[in-house]
Amino acid sequence: MNTIDNYDFRGKRAIIRVDFNVPLDEQGNVTDMTRIRAAVPTIRKVLEGGGSVILMSHLGRPKKNNDMKYSLRQIVPAVEQALGCKVLFAGDCMGEEAARMARELKPGEVMMLENLRFYAEEEGKPRGLAEDASEEEKSAAKKAVKASQKEFVKKLASYADVYINDAFGTAHRAHASTALIADLFPNDKMFGYVMENELKAIDKVLDAPQRPFLAILGGSKVSTKITIIERLMDKVDKLILGGGMTYTFMAAQGGKVGRSICEPDQFDTARAILEKAKAKGIELVLAQDALIADDFSEHANTRQAPSNDIPDGWEGVDIGEEAKRSFREVILSAKTILWNGPVGVFEIDKFATGTRAVADAIVEATAHGAYSLVGGGDSVAAVNKFGLADKVSYVSTGGGALLEYMEGIELPGVAAIRK
Ligand code: AMP
Repeated sequence: MNTIDNYDFRGKRAIIRVDFNVPLDEQGNVTDMTRIRAAVPTIRKVLEGGGSVILMSHLGRPKKNNDMKYSLRQIVPAVEQALGCKVLFAGDCMGEEAARMARELKPGEVMMLENLRFYAEEEGKPRGLAEDASEEEKSAAKKAVKASQKEFVKKLASYADVYINDAFGTAHRAHASTALIADLFPNDKMFGYVMENELKAIDKVLDAPQRPFLAILGGSKVSTKITIIERLMDKVDKLILGGGMTYTFMAAQGGKVGRSICEPDQFDTARAILEKAKAKGIELVLAQDALIADDFSEHANTRQAPSNDIPDGWEGVDIGEEAKRSFREVILSAKTILWNGPVGVFEIDKFATGTRAVADAIVEATAHGAYSLVGGGDSVAAVNKFGLADKVSYVSTGGGALLEYMEGIELPGVAAIRK
């Protein structure tokens, strides 16, 4: 298989699917450059090899064409700054301007297409259907968009000689630019460095972890994490479950959880997880105490309580002091650490100290030689908030993509390159 390292880019046009779905302020300025910076090595590799680059990405979730709030034109200055060279902008993806610009592109030059999601064809889902559309109308619209999606993919492919997928964050989507286009480059398709590094980091953790292997899963609900919990139970030696999930586990064992987030329909699942951990000899750790609050806000009154004895009218919003200590101990005993999901409502500073303690302990373990991978939107946001991103071994850019890959689901964007 071709890789970006052994491919000869001389005189070739490379169309690169990047993830430039970046946050913007009211004026359209990029407020976090992480994703743009991440794509630079791949782009430079092509340019330095004598090729030219056509960048394509989505931005946000526009519901129609040309909603300028989502135009990628706004991020051109940020991309130019990161790359240190001019970036030409085609105001569309399918029109004459994009085609002409691509045709005239010279080695060493970079151009960027407009937001792919201005076109329903990118996702292949019909748009603008009336709410009361009949089943026949829906099915006709679906057929129509699938047919025009083929043309869309062909058009994008016609701009280039080689396709590079460097957008891990959208690899779990079978969209035009993330998967379908790869078929039109049977011998000239490859991963960029972001993708390669992501896959290597996750495979390293899942396939050959140094033991003990600890996974820390937080977040709000058992129901959204159950598949990943089950899959990881076949891999890990230790498992910390934190966040809102804690209270479902406590209530399932007869505890009192007050107003805490709790899913009674997951009680059986929670009990089954506890049983399975015991049977497999996995050390499963739950927060024995909690920081509880009488309101879901910065102004709440707070106190400490056992996680299974929370008074009425109060809710668990973070792990307690005892749990901070026991989580740290477990984290420091691990050689491989995977962290997904905050252990408290870290968006509110008052409820963020538990998540901070987990992040600090992971940093400490990493400094002592453990390999730590942090992934999933909220835990990445947390390490960024605490300024600790460069003190863990690897921070994944993928949210949904990372979880699906870890669950063992073949990602369409990965499969399309590998097949
Ligand atoms: P998820 O998307 O499932 O990973 O959940 C992340 C969210 O879980 C974050 O927004 C946290 O604020 C939230 N969360 C963590 N702990 C709790 C808790 N004890 N109660 C309610 N929400 C929580």
